[in-house]
Amino acid sequence: MAAAEVGDEQAFEDPTVNELCERCAELLGQEAAVFLPSGTMANQISYRVHCRQGDEVIVEASSHPIHFESGGPSAVAGIVLNPVQGRRGLLDAAEVRAAIRPRHRHSPRSRLVSLENTANMGGGAAWEVEAMRAVVAVAHGAGLAVHLDGARLANAAVARGVTMAAFGSMVDSVWLDFSKGLGAPIGACLAGSKPFIEEAWRVKQQLGGSMRQAGIVAAAALYGLEHHYDRLADDHRRASRLAEAIKAMPGLDLINQPVDTNLVFFSTAKTGIAAADLQERLMATGVRIGAIDQWTMRACTHLDVDDEGIERAVEALASVVPVAA
Ligand SMILES: *Cc1c(COP(=O)(O)O)cnc(C)c1O
Repeated sequence: MAAAEVGDEQAFEDPTVNELCERCAELLGQEAAVFLPSGTMANQISYRVHCRQGDEVIVEASSHPIHFESGGPSAVAGIVLNPVQGRRGLLDAAEVRAAIRPRHRHSPRSRLVSLENTANMGGGAAWEVEAMRAVVAVAHGAGLAVHLDGARLANAAVARGVTMAAFGSMVDSVWLDFSKGLGAPIGACLAGSKPFIEEAWRVKQQLGGSMRQAGIVAAAALYGLEHHYDRLADDHRRASRLAEAIKAMPGLDLINQPVDTNLVFFSTAKTGIAAADLQERLMATGVRIGAIDQWTMRACTHLDVDDEGIERAVEALASVVPVAA
């Protein structure tokens, strides 16, 4: 990062950012890409570009834009989110077809289908390429665009043994986060057609997302792509090991099985210990696992957790969950 060649990003004069954008456009199977401070901004910008105020975006009910973007889709993009209940954060073609509204002056206009790969709250579930293609075909057939939230698209591609472009090239906009499994401190790249990215730049400017010597952080993103992509398979193997151990623990129940990638969700309900409580007990042993709601915990494996760390987490869980549960 310290050695990165830099320039004025918003004048397209930062060679490191330019390299990252070219690289990402290719990796995501699109014509062009723009570097952004965060994935959340990538979702807001995409909704703004694809939709007009009052339009509707079809999403799975557990998706990130509904739960974790501070209402940004309505506040920033002026759109209505239509939450459709799927399984593990994924939708099928029939569910999407049923959610598309017939044109009527009283109804919001169905304009966009927004998918997530992997689905975070679905347990890190990875799409099958053909299942996504079927959903995209339904959306495009009805005149809707498709957006792909690829916060963990690298995990999905590694898990399914395909390129990121295998997913990215079938949709109208797609982004990848560098600050999740790839381990960079900041940033996401949003990719699409040249006209889409040109419009995305306008909104990026409006939101204050245009930067100056952003090559410093783009260098970390390039490093993550180069050195932390293939190793995602290790995170997945470790998450499976953790899930196997949790499955064997009386009182704890795995949620959203199978574990496709690096996230492991489990319920503490049968132990009678609230998730926040268990989180605190684990923290006291130096093990950090997130509490999602009253009884749900979410463990995430990443480049700072090695095999020994997984064994320590298993021991810590066994020590804080009462055997009698
Ligand atoms: C983390 C995440 C985001 C937001 O990305 P940021 O870079 O943290 O803004 C969006 N969607 C999903 C599925 C995520 O997991």
